[in-house]
Amino acid sequence: MKTLEQLDPEVSQIITAENEREAERLQLIASENYTSPAVLEAQGSVFTNKYAEGYPGARYYQGCGPSDRIEQLALDRVKTLFGAEHANVQPHSGSSANMAAYLALLQPGDTILGMDLAAGGHLTHGAGFNFSGKIFKSFFYKVQPENQRIDYNVLAEQARKIRPRLIIAGASAYPRTLDFVAFRSICDEVGAYLLVDMAHIAGLIAGGVHPSPVPYADVVTSTTHKTLRGPRSGFILCRKEYAKAIDAMVFPGLQGGPLMHVISAKAVAFKEAMEPAFSTYARQIVSNARTLAQVLQDQGFTILTGGTDNHIVLIDIGSMGMTGAEAAERLEAAGIVANKNSIPNDPRGPRVTSGIRLGTAAVTTRGMKENEMGIIAKYIGRVIRGSCDSAELDSTRQAVAEFCRGFPVFPEL
Ligand code: PLP
Repeated sequence: MKTLEQLDPEVSQIITAENEREAERLQLIASENYTSPAVLEAQGSVFTNKYAEGYPGARYYQGCGPSDRIEQLALDRVKTLFGAEHANVQPHSGSSANMAAYLALLQPGDTILGMDLAAGGHLTHGAGFNFSGKIFKSFFYKVQPENQRIDYNVLAEQARKIRPRLIIAGASAYPRTLDFVAFRSICDEVGAYLLVDMAHIAGLIAGGVHPSPVPYADVVTSTTHKTLRGPRSGFILCRKEYAKAIDAMVFPGLQGGPLMHVISAKAVAFKEAMEPAFSTYARQIVSNARTLAQVLQDQGFTILTGGTDNHIVLIDIGSMGMTGAEAAERLEAAGIVANKNSIPNDPRGPRVTSGIRLGTAAVTTRGMKENEMGIIAKYIGRVIRGSCDSAELDSTRQAVAEFCRGFPVFPEL
C-alpha cells in the first residue's frame, strides 16, 4: 500500500498494526476469518466508485455494464453453490439481510419466534432493543437446561401456543447441528414461514459438513464473512415465489446503491467456496473444533453441550470461578483473541457473562490442524488456570506469536 503510506501515514500505520495483530495472535473469534488475497483485491477495486441502484439489466444509472456482469456472476455463483432458486447479493450485512427478509414476508406487529439471545440467538432475531423486537412482537425459544440443546418437541409446543407468522432458525452461539426438517414440520403445522439465518454455518453448508436449509426454508439469510470466508457482507436466498418481494425490500425498500466492490469480492468468495479444497477446509474446521473441545475438556474445562458439531466451542468459564469478561481479557493479554459470551441461564449480564465462545474457522484457514488445536487448548489452559501474572502472560504472548509465525496468513505472498 505504497500510495497510502506516502499520502496518509497515520492511516497506513494503523492498518499495518491491524495486519500484525491478525498475523501474530490466535484469532478464535467464531464469527471471523481471513479472506483470500483475491477477495481483498476485488474488495479494494475501482467498483467502489460505481453507483448501480437497481438490479442487473434494470439500473437507475448509466454506465452499469461491468456492474451488471459482476452482480449477475455473483448471483449465478451463489445460486449454484447453495442450489437456490433465487438470490439477492445486495444486503450490506447479515443484519440488513434479516431486516429485508422480515419486512418482505411480514407486517409490523406480526409475531416472530426466534432463539433467545442467551441461548445463542442473534440480536436481529427479536431482541427488544433491536429493530426486530421493536417492529415485531417477538417470542423466544430456549435450549434445555440439562444439555443446552434445542428440544424440538418443546419448540413445537411453544409454536402451537404462540402461532407465530415466522420462525427463525439459526444462531450466533449454538455448537450443534440444526434440524431443518424439524423446523419445517413445526412451521407447516402452525402455518409459519421458516427463515433460516445460516450466517455462522454458511461455509460448513457450502462445504457439505452441515445439512443445507435451502430445501426446507422459505427464505435463507446469511453473512459472507464467517465460515464462508468472504468479505464482510450479506446475502439472501429464497424460493421463486418470494423473489419479487425480497428484491423490492432490499432495494428500494431499505437500501440505495449496492456496494459493487463488495459484491465483486462476494463473487470471488463464492467461486472459492465451490472448489473441492473448500470442502476439505470445512471438514477440517469441524474436526479442529472437536479436537479443541476435547482437549479443553480433558484439562477440566466445562464445554457446553459436551462438545461441538460445527466450528463453535462454548466454554462455561463461570464454573471455574471466573467471568467471561475476565477470561477474554486475560486471553487477549496472552495473544489469544476470543469473546465473552452469555451462556444459557447466565446469572451475569451481557457485558460480563459466564462464557467464552471460540471458533476454529480462522485458525483452520492458516493451515492449523488437530495437533495445533491441542497446543492452543494448552495455551488456553495455561492462561486461565495459571497464576497469570503479567510476566507469564507476556511470555505466553511471545510463544503464541512465534507459534503463529509458523502458519502465515498469506503463505503465497
Ligand atoms: N445473524 C447471525 C446468526 C449472526 O451471528 C450475525 C453476526 O454475528 C448476524 C446475523 C449479523 O451480521 P452482521 O454483523 O453482518 O450484521
